[in-house]
Amino acid sequence: MNAAAHGGVTGAEPWLNHRLPKDARRFLPPRPTLTALRKAAASCTGCDLYKNATQTVFGAGPATARLMLVGEQPGDAEDREGLPFVGPAGRLLDRALVAACIDRSLVYVTNAVKHFKWVQRGKRRLHAKPGAREIEACRPWPEAEIAVLAPAVIVCLGATAAQALLGRDFRVTQRRGELIPSTLAPHVMATIHPSSLLREPDKARREAEFARFVAELHRIAALLL
Ligand code: SF4
Repeated sequence: MNAAAHGGVTGAEPWLNHRLPKDARRFLPPRPTLTALRKAAASCTGCDLYKNATQTVFGAGPATARLMLVGEQPGDAEDREGLPFVGPAGRLLDRALVAACIDRSLVYVTNAVKHFKWVQRGKRRLHAKPGAREIEACRPWPEAEIAVLAPAVIVCLGATAAQALLGRDFRVTQRRGELIPSTLAPHVMATIHPSSLLREPDKARREAEFARFVAELHRIAALLL
């Protein structure tokens, strides 16, 4: 899709092209609502990740949600279905939310990066971690979702989401489960991404990590009362 179709400039004004931000900002709608943001993000070409992905996977959940969960990026299943957290990590997240007595239908779930980055291995498309440039390019979308939703609590799931929203120096390994002072929302926490539990080969450690994750979500549930 060309720049003009996105409301950008055409090749007739090459001097202007140098002044456009090379990120998602130029695709933000003038009057953002969740519907307008989702529609605009569907045409985003703010970085190269759209080229190999099936579609933009925008956030999902009610506009009235008080809890916003932010993951890294869509996976294979999410890329095909166009919805966040519908694959194996999403099912694990669902289990954890049930265990923490949080109704997922009241939660807004999204990702820091809206297109699936992957590498081919045989017939499979394997997750590839988004780079700093891609995270930075995509950040206007989660920022706009936060601005529209104004959630009471934001939970960053994994290092990519935490570094996108809390700064590149933020380390989940050091500050997991802490309430982080932030202007993003009254309460902000960072913890693991549920996909890390799927990668843990040791059963006892996996179960202990899951229990810790649920305990963190219990603390979040208490903040929502
Ligand atoms: S990953 Fe984000 S910035 Fe890059 S094309 Fe997709 S929506 Fe746009």
